[in-house]
Amino acid sequence: MRKIPLKLKQLQILEQRSTLGETEEKEKEKLSRGYAGELEFDKILDAYVSGLDVYHLKDFRFKNDDARDLTKVVSGSSEVQIDNVLAAGDRIYTFEVKNFAFDLIYGSKNWHFTGGSEYKDLSMQVNRQRSSLNFLIRDGGFNYEVISHLVFVNPQQTIYNMPNLKNLIVPSNMGRRLAKICVSNRYDQSSVVDYLDSRRLVKSMYDLPANVSFEALRCGVFCYRCDSTAELERVNPYKYCCSSCTKEFTVLEVILVLIDELKTLNESWEVSPARISAFSGGAVSSSTIRRYKRDGRILL
Ligand SMILES: [Zn+2]
Repeated sequence: MRKIPLKLKQLQILEQRSTLGETEEKEKEKLSRGYAGELEFDKILDAYVSGLDVYHLKDFRFKNDDARDLTKVVSGSSEVQIDNVLAAGDRIYTFEVKNFAFDLIYGSKNWHFTGGSEYKDLSMQVNRQRSSLNFLIRDGGFNYEVISHLVFVNPQQTIYNMPNLKNLIVPSNMGRRLAKICVSNRYDQSSVVDYLDSRRLVKSMYDLPANVSFEALRCGVFCYRCDSTAELERVNPYKYCCSSCTKEFTVLEVILVLIDELKTLNESWEVSPARISAFSGGAVSSSTIRRYKRDGRILL
């Protein structure tokens, strides 16, 4: 399973529990578009690798220890994040997924918007991922040549001037390219995959607490299934319901959502029955939460 980016989850919660500024709205839109694109590509890739002996690592993050990497010095960041690493056909592939709503003009150095202004250098991002992953793999004593791809998943988007490069995938060539790439490994590739997994960063340096205090949050119980900013309605003493998507919640589910929201916004916050109850706007009493805790149904 691919996990929803922490920042996106925080913004979804903050949309219900505060008022998002214009910048945050834009960021939420951008992150949810990117995440939707990654899920879309997962679905496509899953279909191609189904039944095959391959390994698919999603959202692979690692620390770049390559002292020779000059881009690291320039950008100041030592963390590399790769949307997809695929070990197939005894090769290692990466796929960087872009779900852009706007058209672009390809350039070997710089990409441009159709209006003429310059967009960032997408090839450089992919090259950096490739060289960092190459280094990581060599560092583990393995010998593979990483083959990197830039994938544009949005069928509504056009890339103008697109050369026929093997590492550029768009909806019109995706089927043919993936059919070639997705073949079973002939040899056991578990050791390189285990090694990569062992180098995986559990916590990203970009996963930061939301910039908000507990006191500034709107209290109440909300639906996590949809973006509705309306509070859940209490149907009976044991059940809540979202008036927007009609999803029903038991009291236990409501408590678990509240705990998850608190931990998502700021993992250093104390999560006590009294705080959860206050966060619920009094919808769930602290004695109820304590009872669930005693019964071992929630862990605090
Ligand atoms: Zn809902």
